[in-house]
Amino acid sequence: MEKEYHILSLSGGKDSTALAFFMKENMPEIFEKLELVFSDTECDLPETYDYLNKIEIFLGKKILRIKPEASFEHLIQLQNFLPTPHRRWCTVMLKTLPFKNYIKNVITKNGNSIIKLYIGIRADELHRAEYNKYSVNYIQEVYPFVDNLICKEDVHQILKNVGINLPDYYKWIDRSGCYFCFFKSKHSWLLLNKHHPELYQKASEMEQPRLNEGGFGWNIDFSLDDMIKPENKIKIIKHHSLKKIKNNKFIKTLYQII
Ligand code: SF4
Repeated sequence: MEKEYHILSLSGGKDSTALAFFMKENMPEIFEKLELVFSDTECDLPETYDYLNKIEIFLGKKILRIKPEASFEHLIQLQNFLPTPHRRWCTVMLKTLPFKNYIKNVITKNGNSIIKLYIGIRADELHRAEYNKYSVNYIQEVYPFVDNLICKEDVHQILKNVGINLPDYYKWIDRSGCYFCFFKSKHSWLLLNKHHPELYQKASEMEQPRLNEGGFGWNIDFSLDDMIKPENKIKIIKHHSLKKIKNNKFIKTLYQII
């Protein structure tokens, strides 16, 4: 008979965290057997690591941290170029492969098993479920928030009720991930420099040799060194403020009227 193995993959963000607390409260018999797993790139924001420690204390359960086989610095030497949105080798090497290897180990250790993978996709973002399928017959994705019609406001409420609230990085950026993530806007790069100047500097040192060889940096418009020059900072902040004004619901309605 196939054994069932229950895994919740935590991202260090609000949804998967809320799911862990939701399962503790509403699915206690599964929570007891549940393995909490975090794919640790070793390059996440310090706030993410603090939040993971807090989750362990609040849940009273350890989180297994899966590490990549080589550090990001070492992987850059091997690839010889920085990852970009079109050549996103970072996700594969830092997250997908280590997670797949971990699953393979679970299967090897436990024999004929079905892995139930609990995913924190909410009922109001069901379309994302398509991108989270493993398409292998020994993994079954489970979406408790979708099944229980849990939406964004409910997630906030769950985190508030248990007293853990949001991770601290939400005070200045709205996504978890590597500190050098190239999906960041220029404005978010400036905020990284403000909140973690040492990490900004590290990211800048990583791109410098690539730029010197005529390759890509982290951002298409500026090198990180140039981005923080006062004249560029002003341009970026101005552009960001204008965008915010344009996205303001009241202003949008006004534009539609006039
Ligand atoms: S967070 Fe960004 S840089 Fe890190 S693995 Fe994901 S896409 Fe790559």
